[in-house]
Amino acid sequence: MSVDYHVHTFFSGDARGRILEYVKIALIKKLEDVGISDHFIPGRMIGRLDEPPVYKKLSDYVKKINEAKRKIKSAIGLKVGVEVDFIPGLENEIKNVLKGLIFDYIIGSVHFIEEWPFDHPKYILEYQKWDPVKLYEKYFMVVQVCAKSKIFDVIGHPDLIKKFGYKPKTDITDLYVATAKVFKENDVCIEVNTSGLRHPCREIYPNKRFLKMCYEEGVQITLGSDAHTPESVGMDFDKALDLIKKVGYRHITIFNGRRKQLKEV
Ligand SMILES: [Zn+2]
Ligand SMILES: [Zn+2]
Repeated sequence: MSVDYHVHTFFSGDARGRILEYVKIALIKKLEDVGISDHFIPGRMIGRLDEPPVYKKLSDYVKKINEAKRKIKSAIGLKVGVEVDFIPGLENEIKNVLKGLIFDYIIGSVHFIEEWPFDHPKYILEYQKWDPVKLYEKYFMVVQVCAKSKIFDVIGHPDLIKKFGYKPKTDITDLYVATAKVFKENDVCIEVNTSGLRHPCREIYPNKRFLKMCYEEGVQITLGSDAHTPESVGMDFDKALDLIKKVGYRHITIFNGRRKQLKEV
């Protein structure tokens, strides 16, 4: 059983490819489900982006996925997802925009620390202003607030802060354990996201150590490639499956209308 729940189409603004092109590649790669998870970014942050989403309203985006679903003849699940930028303080705005729309799952992702889009290569110099331990504490605090908000089903790429290879030299196990506990207490899944292998950190999100802590706390997982082109759907999933099995996982979580179901890998 394999699914890719983190895929960006041209709607995201920073990706290319149409929904059915993604479905086609997902079928070739023998995935059971492919979930479209284009960006939703709260209004206040849009001005910070070079390539904001191209849809006008989130409801138009949901409609397009449902239209595509009706055209599919093959046995593959096309899921309605979304990757929401989590910004502490904007919870109500996020809830209001999501209200009334039917999703299979909602991913909450932290891409901003205060106003800094830390995963964007254009703003990489900002890392030099931070002590790595302080930076990681700050990042994981925001990730925990994201999980506690109860808005999301899945936490996207849960250690994205390592993207450009900035890592504390000291042991941060306590931070991983505390964060894994918050995931469990708030019943959110985390995403095992292979895009880190294509970034300077050269590592799946989350790393093996953090994933192990999540496993020990009983946190459920989903899989995502973070594809920004159709060819990247399901990329490096052999490595992701290898990693999750090594830490002990035997199941992944799939979603239907925001209801969870465990499936054997
Ligand atoms: Zn993301
Ligand atoms: Zn993404």
